[in-house]
Amino acid sequence: MQPESEPKPEHGRATRIIHNRRHKDSLGSPYSPVYNTTTYRFADTASLQNVIEGKTPGNLYTRWGSNPTIRELEQGLAGLEDAEDALAFSSGMAAISSTLFAHGREGIVCIGDLYGGTQELLTRHLQPLGIPVAFLLQSELDQLTEALNSPGMLVYCETPANPTLEIMDIRDLAQQAHARGALLAVDNTFASPINQQPLSLGADFSIHSATKFLGGHSDITAGAVMASAERIKPIALWRKNLGQILAPETAALLSRSLRTLPVRIRQHNDNAMAVARAMESHPAIKRVLYPGLPDFPGHHLASQQMEGFGGVITLELRGNREQTARVADSLRVFLLATSLGGVESLVSQPCVTSHHGISRQERERHGITDSMLRLSVGLEDSKDLVADLQQALDQL
Ligand code: PLP
Repeated sequence: MQPESEPKPEHGRATRIIHNRRHKDSLGSPYSPVYNTTTYRFADTASLQNVIEGKTPGNLYTRWGSNPTIRELEQGLAGLEDAEDALAFSSGMAAISSTLFAHGREGIVCIGDLYGGTQELLTRHLQPLGIPVAFLLQSELDQLTEALNSPGMLVYCETPANPTLEIMDIRDLAQQAHARGALLAVDNTFASPINQQPLSLGADFSIHSATKFLGGHSDITAGAVMASAERIKPIALWRKNLGQILAPETAALLSRSLRTLPVRIRQHNDNAMAVARAMESHPAIKRVLYPGLPDFPGHHLASQQMEGFGGVITLELRGNREQTARVADSLRVFLLATSLGGVESLVSQPCVTSHHGISRQERERHGITDSMLRLSVGLEDSKDLVADLQQALDQL
C-alpha cells in the first residue's frame, strides 16, 4: 500500500486540514473510523490504573475527552490556529462557560458587543456566583487598566462582534491585558480561523461556536477552544465535570466539515462582499455594517488583523421594528432563522433573536437598533441573494 500521507508544518493550512489523521487505517480508508464508544476494555486492573493516573497514554471514558475521534478533531482544531492544543465541546456556550470558569474566576472584563447568550451567562449566572464582571464599550477602553484591578483576571471580547461587526484591536488588548497580569480570550466565531488568527495576534484563548462556520452546514451543535497546553488543562477539567463533551459522531462530522473550511470561507467572504456592495446604494438602507467596506469604522483595523472579512453583514433599515420585520418576512432565498455560518443564507432581526434577552436600554448602549437585520451570507449565487434582498426592500 502507498505510504500514509502526513501533514507537515511547512504545508499550507488547507493541506494540513485535509491530511489531519491520527490513526493509520489498515484497510486503506483515507479517514479514521468513528470510535462511537463511551468506554474501553483493559487487559487488567494495573493497566487501567496506569491510564487513570496518566502514567501511560490510553482511552478511558469518552466524557473525559479520551476518545480517538474527538482527539483527532481536536488535533485538527489546534492546527487551524497553530495552537498547542484544543478542546471540542457540545456547543459554543459550553466552550465559553468552561473557559470562563477555568480562567475568569478572579474577574472578567468584557469589551464591546457580545452574543446575547454570552451576556446572559455573565449577568444571570456568573455575577450572582460572586464573579466580578465588568462591561466596557470600545469607546471606554481608557478604563481597561483601572478595571483590571487584581491579578489573574480575564479580558473577553468578540471580533467582529455580534451583531454590529465592531472590530477590536486584538494585539492592543493582549498587550494591555498582559501588562496587568490578565489573559485575553477572543470569540473568533464570526471571523473563523481562515480569516483571523487571534493567538498569533497575542490572545491567550480563541473560542468558537463550531455550530457556525466550522460546522458550516447548520446540522451540528459544537464548540471549540484553542490555547496553550498549560491553559487548556484546567478547561478540560471543567468540561469533564460539567459534562460538556460532544458525541463522537458529531466530532466526526465536524472533522469532515473542517476539510472544506478554507474553500467555504473564501466563498462566504466573496458573496458577503458582493451583497454588502450592492446594498450600499439602496435607498431603503441607512447603513451597511460590513468590515470589508472602506467606510466601515473598523475597516482599517480589520484589514490589518484579518485575511478576509467574513460572511456576516448587518443592515440598518430606514424603517421601524415592524417594517424591518416585514422585510425579513418577504425574503425568499434568505431563510428567516437565527444562527449563521451555514451554506444557506439566513436573516434575523437581532432585537427579536440573538439579543432578545438583553434589555432595550443595554441594546441601545451597544448601538443595536430595532431596524437592524443580520444576514448570514451563504454559498448561493450572490446575484440571487442580491435580487432577493432588493425585492424584499422594495416592499418597505
Ligand atoms: N459566540 C457567538 C459569537 C455566537 O454567535 C454564538 C451563537 O450564536 C455563540 C457563541 C454560542 O454558540 P452555540 O449556539 O454553539 O452554543
